[in-house]
Amino acid sequence: MRYIDLRSDTVTAPTQEMRDAMYTAQVGDDVYGDDPTVIKLEQYAAEIAGKEAALFVPSGTFGNQLAIFTHCRRGDEVILGEDCHIVVHEVGAAAVIAGVNLRPLTSNKGVLNPQDIASRMRSAEDDIHYPQTSLICLENAHSNGRVIPLENMREIFEIAKERHVPVHLDGARLFNAAAYLGVDAREITKYCDSVMFCLSKGLCAPFGSMLAGTKKFIAKARKKRKLMGGGLRQAGIMAAAGLVALERMRERLPEDHANARLLGEKLAEIPGIKVFTEDIHINMVFFDINGTGCEPAKLVTELAKKGIKINGAENGLLRLVTNYWVTRDDVLYAAKCIKEIVSSS
Ligand SMILES: *Cc1c(COP(=O)(O)O)cnc(C)c1O
Repeated sequence: MRYIDLRSDTVTAPTQEMRDAMYTAQVGDDVYGDDPTVIKLEQYAAEIAGKEAALFVPSGTFGNQLAIFTHCRRGDEVILGEDCHIVVHEVGAAAVIAGVNLRPLTSNKGVLNPQDIASRMRSAEDDIHYPQTSLICLENAHSNGRVIPLENMREIFEIAKERHVPVHLDGARLFNAAAYLGVDAREITKYCDSVMFCLSKGLCAPFGSMLAGTKKFIAKARKKRKLMGGGLRQAGIMAAAGLVALERMRERLPEDHANARLLGEKLAEIPGIKVFTEDIHINMVFFDINGTGCEPAKLVTELAKKGIKINGAENGLLRLVTNYWVTRDDVLYAAKCIKEIVSSS
C-alpha cells in the first residue's frame, strides 16, 4: 500500500535517477582521496555554497558537530539559539565530541537579537573566570519552518567579524530558505564562515550532508571527520545520489512550499483548527486541533487507516511536512480526511 507520508521530509526515498546514478557510480577509496564521484560532489557543493571547499559527511548532525569540533577548543563557549537543532535535537553531542559549553539565547521564532549576542561574547583573556567565545551558530531555514531574514544574519555576522569569532550556519534546509527568499543560496551563506546542508530531506538523497568553508577549515575538518569515524571508503555510491540531489532537486522545492501553503489554507477552513499560516515559509505546516474536540492521538490513528502517516503532537502542536513524494492531490486528500475525522469527533 502506498502511504502519503507527512511526518517529515526525512522520509523521502531516493528517485529512480538517484538509484541509476548510484548503480553506475565511479568509486575509489575516499580516505586516500581517490573517489572521483565524492570529489565531484565536494567541488560542486563548494561552488553552490559560495565557499572554497566542502566535505561529504554522513548526516546533518555529523556536519554540525564536526563544524563545532573544528572551530572550537575544549571548554570554549558557543553562542546559539535555545530552540536550534544543535541544542534541542543533537543528543548533547557538543559536550561529548567538541567538549564545548553551549550558551543558548532566547530566540524570537528562531531570530536572535544581535545585541544579545554582542553582550555575551567574551574573551578568556579579559577575566580569569571567562571561557573563550569561539563560535556563533545560526540556523536557516529554522526547524520551526520559518526563514530568518538576511538582514538579521548580516548584523550578527558583522558583530562576529569585529570580534574575530566565526559563524557556522546550520543550513540543513538551506535551499528551502533560498527558494523562499527567491535568492541564490550564496546570498545566505555569505553571512557565515562555515555551512552544513543536507542532501537528504527535501532533496531526497538517501544519505549525507555537506560541510563547506575555507580550504584551511575543510582540511582541518577532514582530519577530525576521520577521528569521528566518518572517513568513508567507496563513498561515491552515496555521493552519486547527492549529486543528483544538488543538480536536479533544488529548483523544484517551491512545489513543496506551494503544497504546504495549499494544505495550510485547506486546514484553516476547518472549524476549530488553528493553522499558524504566517509560519508557512517552506514545506512545514504547524496547526492546533484543540478547538475541534478531537485528540491529536486519535487523528494520527484514524489518518493511518486512510493511508496517511503523521506524527503525534509536540507541545500541543501538530506538524505536517510536504516533500517530493507528496502531490497536490495528496494534500487535498489529506485535508479532506482531516476534516472528516475532526468533525465526527
Ligand atoms: C535534520 C536537521 C539536522 C540534522 O540532520 P540529520 O541528518 O538528521 O542528522 C540539523 N539541523 C536541522 C535544522 C535539521 O532540520
